[in-house]
Amino acid sequence: MIRKLIGKVLRRPGKRVLHAKHYGIRRDQLHSGALKVCDRLQDAGFEAYIVGGAIRDLMLDKSPKDFDVATSATPEQVRHVFHRSRIIGRRFRIVHVPFGEEIIEVTTFRGASEAPTDASGRILRDNAYGDIEEDASRRDFTVNALYYNPRTEEILDFHHGVSDLENKRLTIIGDPDIRYREDPVRMLRAIRLSAKLGLSIAPATKTPILIHAKLLENIPSARLFDEMMKLLLSGSAWTCLMSLRENGLHKLLFPLLEKQLSRPDTTTFLRKALESTDQRINEDMPVSAGYIFAALLWHEVEADWIKRQAAGEYPVPALVEAMNTVESKVQKRMAIPNRYGAAMKEIWLLQPRFEQRVGTRPWRLMEQQRFRAAYDFLMLRAECGMVENSLGDWWTRFQNADEDTRMALMAAATDKPAGAHAKKRRRRKPNNPKGE
Ligand code: ATP
Ligand code: MG
Repeated sequence: MIRKLIGKVLRRPGKRVLHAKHYGIRRDQLHSGALKVCDRLQDAGFEAYIVGGAIRDLMLDKSPKDFDVATSATPEQVRHVFHRSRIIGRRFRIVHVPFGEEIIEVTTFRGASEAPTDASGRILRDNAYGDIEEDASRRDFTVNALYYNPRTEEILDFHHGVSDLENKRLTIIGDPDIRYREDPVRMLRAIRLSAKLGLSIAPATKTPILIHAKLLENIPSARLFDEMMKLLLSGSAWTCLMSLRENGLHKLLFPLLEKQLSRPDTTTFLRKALESTDQRINEDMPVSAGYIFAALLWHEVEADWIKRQAAGEYPVPALVEAMNTVESKVQKRMAIPNRYGAAMKEIWLLQPRFEQRVGTRPWRLMEQQRFRAAYDFLMLRAECGMVENSLGDWWTRFQNADEDTRMALMAAATDKPAGAHAKKRRRRKPNNPKGE
């Protein structure tokens, strides 16, 4: 009790001014565009700081993903300073300032005044402006409310963010109940940031997540998808998925995953898919979002596909039907944009074609735009015992072989023409209703 009280007193909000150099942060580690944005805003008489993820990541010795600037200038005033900038967003207006290939996001200090909310407490618009201290209280986690002033090379810390970073702890600012109601996406951000940065979620920040998980139902599906993408491309997707599950959030994002995560074989498939994606991201290699979604939903598609074939449908039309059924179930919850959805479906559709290794088919398959991703997917299935290892091996050898070896490989392949399985089953059915 006393310790709790002392803790509360010690963690009372209040500005701390720290020297960035003491924390190993030097001006030259920061994006030159973000530094220029701060400089020009300050020259124009406004306050301007680099804030959020960039300062947090540098303090953890990680390289920042993007650089955000917070300022006392209103969006219109920012526009006035940077003629090529654009005001975007309605719920939360910000200014995009382009710098070469990069965009610096500039946000005006948010105020403490009441923002309009819906019945569940969700903030509908947050465009009331205020001072830096109010802005700090409106940010999500203490570690994200650190403001770096490039001119003085000082960090302003209003909510013990530095101490939380030192203790590897993620703490929400303010009353967790209110803050999650205001924006349920903060629950997903907590999962992602803790997994990605190796921070443990403070108990008072973590416990309410289970209770408020359902609030995610209120979030527009496009925003949910954006957040899901950040999670899957965080380089810690598997840890995130496990943590989503532990905190009761996965059902709201991906109800279809519940079944898969309750079976060891399907869990292994997902783990291998996500861990290999994580590894690629952490090695700065490109990854395909279509591949990730193809893996996440494959079991559902495969189960439906098998059912349809058993009922006598031909393999390819059965696969198309299975894909469409699963896709429409998913789209109800999360809007997967067409460019990813199309890639996902192509990867699935190419799977039965790997079984066809006669004539010109292998060559035609290799010419497909998504061949590489589809082949990786086949290898993943083979690794998990979902198709014969020999099929995966055949394709690995075929790709790397010279012409003569390819002919020999094709001659040795034991394919049946497409549709043979289905036809057979159809004929046999009446004599063998139980499939024994
Ligand atoms: P990263 O960019 O590495 O994913 P980030 O914390 O910088 O992490 P952004 O989405 O770039 O994430 O947000 C920038 C900053 O804006 C955050 O650090 C945080 O201070 C604030 N912020 C973002 N989303 C929210 C939110 N839902 N509620 C309150 N503050 C938020
Ligand atoms: Mg950021």
